[in-house]
Amino acid sequence: MINNKQRQQLLQKLMDREMERLRKKCFKYKRRPFLYGDIEIIEEDLTEIQASGLYKKIELNKYKIKHKISIDIRLLDDYFNYKYNKWDSRIGINKKYYKNRIIKVIRHELAHAFVEERYEHMFSKLENKNSDGSPIFLIVLYWMDGYSNHNCVTAFKKSNFYKDTKIIKTFNDLDNYVFDLLYKYDEVTRELEKINNYRNVKTDEEFKEIKDVSTTINSFRFAHRKAGLNKNIEHKTLGVVMVNDNDKKVKRIFTSKATDWEIGCCVEPENIRELYNKKADIQRANLYKDTKELYIGDIEELYAGKIKKITLYEHSNIEESKLNVHNL
Ligand SMILES: [Zn+2]
Repeated sequence: MINNKQRQQLLQKLMDREMERLRKKCFKYKRRPFLYGDIEIIEEDLTEIQASGLYKKIELNKYKIKHKISIDIRLLDDYFNYKYNKWDSRIGINKKYYKNRIIKVIRHELAHAFVEERYEHMFSKLENKNSDGSPIFLIVLYWMDGYSNHNCVTAFKKSNFYKDTKIIKTFNDLDNYVFDLLYKYDEVTRELEKINNYRNVKTDEEFKEIKDVSTTINSFRFAHRKAGLNKNIEHKTLGVVMVNDNDKKVKRIFTSKATDWEIGCCVEPENIRELYNKKADIQRANLYKDTKELYIGDIEELYAGKIKKITLYEHSNIEESKLNVHNL
């Protein structure tokens, strides 16, 4: 009978070997480990999340992290319980097949750990470089001869990124390639961070002339699942102001939007602006909140901030508890 100690020993041995292979691939002539942070591997029942493996970053303190990898118990069961039969072996299924399956999952999780250590803190506004739908993660993973069964990978394999991973030879080249990409993503997303239609306005008078004032705050992060550029969360407020200014009635519209975008694994920095223009006004966010407010009264009340506000409608599919989490 195989006991838990032997199962754990197998995981440790396979991970140590894989880390040594990756260390040689990335840092052959350098005196450094593949990962700086401590790393732990355990087996776990991952039925609930329907995964073969799981990577978790554990923050030990403000400066130090630890990597934790879990491998699904069924992968080990399949390996240890395997009994030879000639039908299986004819289609290439044998004990080694099940061992390789575990190695593949370990490699995938090690790539998460590596991206976390090396790239997550660069251009820190762009979060989730490490997630399964992120081009950065998938580029590093496939350069390491890794594998992923997430949905977006079918599209990724047709992308220029994937082709590039096949051409890039050394880790140094990969590292420069990733840095270059992050630099370009950062540049274009910062340009799109704040968009309004009163940028060129110089005086209060000119500002008053704008009948429909709009402001959009965009934030960008890498995607968990999807291949394209997608709106994850959007809060939109349409404010209609109708006030009496002496004898005149004044009507102005203020639109403000806060949008959280996800950059999927096939989106190149060069395409972001075009995709943004296509989707900014049309695409419905995964989580959204739309509010329309009407302000009525006198102009003095408006300037004094005491004007009467009526909420005309509020459409949302976000639970109140989640609203604060994203600070939108
Ligand atoms: Zn993953």
